[in-house]
Amino acid sequence: TFQAISHPMADLLSEVDGGRLLVWRAIRAIADGDAKAGGLISLAGWWNADAAARTVAQALHTFGGYGLTTEYDVHLYNLRAKAWPLVWGDPQLLIEEAGRRLYAGEATVLPDAGDVPVDFDLGDEARAMVAEIDAFFEKHVTDEMRKDFHYSWEGYNPRINKMLADARLLFLGWPKEMGGRGVTPYAKLAAMDAFERHGYNNPAHNVAAMIGAVIHRFGSDEVKRDVLDRMLSGEVICSLGYSEPASGSDVFAAQCKATPDGNGWRIDGTKMFTSGANIADYVLMLTRTNPDLPKHKGLTMFMVPLKAEGVTIQPVHTFQDERTNITFYDGVKIPDSYRLGAVDEGVRTMSAGLELEHGGSFAKV
Ligand SMILES: Cc1cc2nc3c(=O)[nH]c(=O)nc-3n(C[C@H](O)[C@H](O)[C@H](O)COP(=O)(O)OP(=O)(O)OC[C@H]3O[C@@H](n4cnc5c(N)ncnc54)[C@H](O)[C@@H]3O)c2cc1C
Repeated sequence: TFQAISHPMADLLSEVDGGRLLVWRAIRAIADGDAKAGGLISLAGWWNADAAARTVAQALHTFGGYGLTTEYDVHLYNLRAKAWPLVWGDPQLLIEEAGRRLYAGEATVLPDAGDVPVDFDLGDEARAMVAEIDAFFEKHVTDEMRKDFHYSWEGYNPRINKMLADARLLFLGWPKEMGGRGVTPYAKLAAMDAFERHGYNNPAHNVAAMIGAVIHRFGSDEVKRDVLDRMLSGEVICSLGYSEPASGSDVFAAQCKATPDGNGWRIDGTKMFTSGANIADYVLMLTRTNPDLPKHKGLTMFMVPLKAEGVTIQPVHTFQDERTNITFYDGVKIPDSYRLGAVDEGVRTMSAGLELEHGGSFAKV
């Protein structure tokens, strides 16, 4: 039912929410006399007509036979979603109109928006953050460096990473006591937009913030010193080693083994889609420590050095011009201090990591 019912409903809910946001953006733009206002109106109309039509179609299917009866209100939504957009004619023409208004200088008469209670201004701290990032790129980043910028891990530049750390422009959302900058979510959002605008919003940064938070919570003093402190100072980056050739969505079916070995552990197995492993120093790895326990138990998490003996990294290319990797671990030795969380309780550590990846806040970890 997740794939058939819940996922489409969640997708459509966010599309309807996005449509509402676009309407408010357009109204705010009218009130501000923004030159983009006319284009935003067309975009809001186009997006909402399309989202409404697909949402009611899915809603009818979800209700099954009852979707067709007049006893449930869903048929009324269906009627409105199909009829209202036609007041403007074919909704697809609105996207062309948006293009003309936004990029070809076509003017339109705008209504009076009155008092608008919604504001999209992110505030002074966000503005200062953006100015700081712009100044950083102006001062430190040359055209030569920009040539290698890429949206994937391949665009990672260790020199820029170090300079960003020195300028305290990494780990922006982390609390100050953890070594972060402690900026508000608004300022962080503005910062991400600014990095994006400069073409340097590298996945290595977000993954570092996620893994760093997991180490901070579950790691020993030794792994904090070797990995976390050096991430904070911009010297190392880390990959995520969850997926395997035979377990992706079903992540807790991981088979990559960690076996006790002297005072530490020995890692044997394969991880698939280990993005960034070819340039990273460590991988946050989910391993099976007890095959006799039920699937969700018997898992343990470790930081595994990628430059260690026994690690082999091979490229896997995607059609989106992005390199990821398959990584092989053959008797890789690691100390027990590189374990994150209790033995056989990797699900707890992993859940904290996934919560961050899904957009949760550090407070929940
Ligand atoms: C470019 C790229 C980079 C990646 N980077 C990383 C990384 O850095 N680290 C990492 O660990 N992983 C990474 N991944 C892996 C990614 O997280 C997995 O691809 C994802 O978890 C899906 O797993 P899978 O590919 O094995 O597909 P599957 O799990 O085999 O899924 C295939 C299809 O089956 C559906 N499905 C699966 N289970 C169910 C179910 N129970 N009910 C209904 N439908 C189901 C899925 O929704 C999907 O449509 C990356 C993947 C890509 C493509």
